[in-house]
Amino acid sequence: SLSYSSAVSPKHSVYYRPANANDTLLRAAIVALVRNSEIDGIRSTIRQVDDRFNREFGYPYILLNDEDFTDEFKTRVQAVTKATIQFGKLPASHWGLSPYVTEDKVKVALAHNNGRYLHGGSYSYRLMCRYQSGFIHKHPLLAHLDYYWRIEPGVDYYCDLPYDPFRFMRDNNLIYGFTITPTEIAPTVESLWDVTRKWMLENPELLPEKSFIQWTVDKKSKYTMCHFWSNFEIVDLSFYRSAAYESYFQHLDRAGGFFYERWGDAPVHSIAASMLLRKEQVHWFEDIGYHHPGYTHCPNKPEMQRNCICRTGKEFMYTGKCSRRLETVKNIDKSQALKLARLP
Ligand code: GDP
Ligand code: MN
Repeated sequence: SLSYSSAVSPKHSVYYRPANANDTLLRAAIVALVRNSEIDGIRSTIRQVDDRFNREFGYPYILLNDEDFTDEFKTRVQAVTKATIQFGKLPASHWGLSPYVTEDKVKVALAHNNGRYLHGGSYSYRLMCRYQSGFIHKHPLLAHLDYYWRIEPGVDYYCDLPYDPFRFMRDNNLIYGFTITPTEIAPTVESLWDVTRKWMLENPELLPEKSFIQWTVDKKSKYTMCHFWSNFEIVDLSFYRSAAYESYFQHLDRAGGFFYERWGDAPVHSIAASMLLRKEQVHWFEDIGYHHPGYTHCPNKPEMQRNCICRTGKEFMYTGKCSRRLETVKNIDKSQALKLARLP
């Protein structure tokens, strides 16, 4: 079956926690970066997360914005949930042009890439991708957290989740949880793998003894375009806070590809996971029915039909290239990973 970690999603109530037992909540929150203009979308998402999961658990929501949230935004979003919502503004130093790129070259790159792919000419989209890659886990409101669950405005949650996914991750030593694994648009990440392997060769002491890097890197040392779709992710934040991840992010930032190309936080998180984690530290939340514009996942197992309102049919995750690849790929030793990185 398509279960990547040995952890099987719980069918029973061992992870169930009745409302009001706050002492059993982990240090975790449900987090979104969002704009004032996306108020309807974030209300809908939070309402669905509450209906499907969080009304029984009461994890806080943290909403972050590069601008001040309006009073109207705060009032209307808080109206859809009893859970605490914290509204935060990004530190100015976390949202902006990387110090390693020049404005003139960025302008040329945006003009060149405009129309080549989605958001090819968008400056703000690049700020967003860089922020979610290197800074979101450093926001002061997240400082005390061990886990975050990332949400976005305008997504759908189709099934009940009757257990605490944070506890589930903790109890199974899981670091990264996902729902959908598409392939990236190749011209957005033209040099990402070549820049990555340079970092590996310069920092072998930061690499783990084993990793599932072959999910993202093929035998010819080319990026497979496989990534976890980061608009949903549940992550042990110690991963993003690790010396290896930070060094890797700094290296990417210096290379300029967040601006000259359009590196997304999804391929960055995913390549980092495949390079720095073992396969059994990653979990597919197959039981989380989910939709973000572009792809849907609807579980097809009878025991996962928990009041789902999606219809399983030609389910992407049961047939897609990257889910199949993840199913079959094995951990390899550091020496083999370095060999891959050295291939011409
Ligand atoms: P896509 O999923 O790649 O198409 O990108 P989205 O437009 O959905 O953006 C990803 C996330 O970042 C969403 O949660 C957006 O609300 C958020 N986001 C994108 N751009 C901005 C921005 O300029 N400011 C703020 N505050 N949030 C943004
Ligand atoms: Mn989105």
